[in-house]
Order: sequence, then structure tokens, then C-alpha cells
Amino acid sequence: MLRVSNDIAGLVGSTPLVRLKGPSDRTGCDIFGKCEFLNPGGSVKDRAALWIIRDAEGSGALKPGGTIVEGTAGNTGIGLAVIGGSLGYKTVIVMPETQSQEKKDALRALGAELVLVPATSYANPGHYVHTSRRLAEETPGAVWANQFDNIANRLAHIKSTAPEIWAALEGKVDGFICAAGTGGTVAGVGLGLKEYDPAITVGLADPDGAALFSWFTSGELKAEGNSVAEGIGQSRITANLDGAPIDVAFRVSDLEALPILYELMEKDGLHLGLSSAINVAGAEKLARQLGPGKRIVTILCDNGSRYLSTIWNPEWLAAKGLPLPGWREI
Ligand code: PMP
Repeated sequence: MLRVSNDIAGLVGSTPLVRLKGPSDRTGCDIFGKCEFLNPGGSVKDRAALWIIRDAEGSGALKPGGTIVEGTAGNTGIGLAVIGGSLGYKTVIVMPETQSQEKKDALRALGAELVLVPATSYANPGHYVHTSRRLAEETPGAVWANQFDNIANRLAHIKSTAPEIWAALEGKVDGFICAAGTGGTVAGVGLGLKEYDPAITVGLADPDGAALFSWFTSGELKAEGNSVAEGIGQSRITANLDGAPIDVAFRVSDLEALPILYELMEKDGLHLGLSSAINVAGAEKLARQLGPGKRIVTILCDNGSRYLSTIWNPEWLAAKGLPLPGWREI
């Protein structure tokens, strides 16, 4: 449907689904990707950004001309900067310095004040999340978006993403799966879809280095290995994850996801970030478990142009010992 909006906040969401050829053909299922990279800030995190802003306005915490402070792997910051900026708010973004140069450049270009901190564990007071909370407390007129534990994040997916999936597929949905950063997407879409039909299977795709697969399978938060995927990989039960209706969990390695990332580019013309491919790899595993003929939805989180210097760069891949796209050589 063609739309006219008074501001970009009105353009968040209502993203289309696309059937993914390779994963669908291999499994005999219809595997659909929800094109969240088409949001105005370019990622699934625009939804959380908008709902967090609206919630803070509603509670009176965020006043006209106020400041939004957040710790983020980048995409939430971009969402807050563009949507918040269009609504007249300043944004201060705290990010681990290990995130891609493209996201840092984008945040500066979008007018956010960028604070880079070393990548440390969550237990360290210098962690980007704790740093952002302190900065918010110290800044007059500032609110802390707190995407990990602010459940306005998952409410965005309960109230917008899940109803969109249900409507687009006219209620014929068998499964949903994605990875967790804050957990807002998997918990929110899961809760929202189960309101329509509790029989829908909700899956978690957990990258190496995250602790949720072991939490789900053995009740213990234990992480093994690592992943170069940005924006996902959680080691604690955030408020957004608490009560997530997860029926099944799969571990997905970078080595499983990278060939899918390249295949989505070659066969479907979808140039994506690695978290999207981890989601699609998880969707294939869920499809095999549910059997042929099922309809499974996952999230295409952000665009590959955000990672041209990393997972789309042959030299970078070679230096990490990771496989190159089939059509590229160095
Ligand atoms: N993929 C990317 C690229 C992201 O930036 C994020 C958010 N950190 C996610 C996936 C995960 O989304 P959520 O925070 O809703 O779990």
C-alpha cells in the first residue's frame, strides 16, 4: 500500500515479507524473511527506538528538546538518532569500539554524539550499557532508553511486528524464529503470535558465544565459542527475554550462516548483515524439525552495506579465516 506520512516515525514498520528461495526449496517449506532492513533507520531496531521514545514521552520522562542516551551495538542508536532527531530530540550513543566503522560513521553523520568504550563483559562497570546509564543520570533532561530491560522494546513487536506477520500470511503461520540481542524481537513476536494461535512454534537461533541455547536446553547460562555477528549474542536473561515463549532453540555457527548470507545475495538479491543469515539458518533448522509444507517466518534485520568493511570484505574475511563468497577472490 502506498503511504503518506507527516514524519518518519509514521514510516516505521509495515515491512513486507519475501519468500527465500534456497532455504524454502531445500526444506520443502515456505520460509519468509520480514524485510526489517526497509525501516527508515535501516534495521529492525527502529521499532524498539520508536516505542521507547513514545513510552518516555507518555510517562513525561522525555520532554520537548530532551536528550535520549543509549548503549547499543549500533542499530538502536541509528534508530534513535533518526527517529528521535526528527522529533526534536538529541541523542547520545555509547557503543563498543569493536563495532563496524560504517555504523560509527552513520551515527556521527546522523547527528548523534558518539561515545566509544572498550568491549568488556557486562560485569565490568565500563561496559557500554552501564556507561550509557551513568551518562543519562549525569545529563540534565536526559532519559536512558535502556533497550535491554525496557519492555517498551518487546511491546513494539507484540503490537506491530506480530500483527503484521499474521495479517500478511492471513493467519497461516506455523513457526517463527530469530536470534536475540536484547531479546525484544524473539520475545515480542513470539508473545504476539501466540496471542493469535498458541500452536505456532517459536524458535530461538543462538549464535556461538551466546548463552541462551544452554539456558534453554539445560537451564544454565553458559557460552562457548564466538561469532563475528553484530547485534546478537546474549549472555543474560534481560527483562525483554524474561517469559519469552520459546519452544525450541538451535545453535547456529558463523560457518553455517555465511554460505546462507552469500546465497541470499546470489539467489534472492538480498544484501544483508550476518544476524539475518543466522536467523535464516535457524529457520531452516526449524523447518526440518516441523517437516515439509510449513510456513516459517524470520527477520531480515539490517542491510549488508552496514558491513562492507567486515563480512562483505574479502580481505577481512580471509584475515579471520572465514570463507569468501563463491564469486569473490582476493
Ligand atoms: N540483528 C542486528 C543487526 C541487531 O542490531 C539487533 C539488535 N541488537 C538484533 C539482530 C537483535 O534484535 P533484538 O535486540 O530485538 O533481540
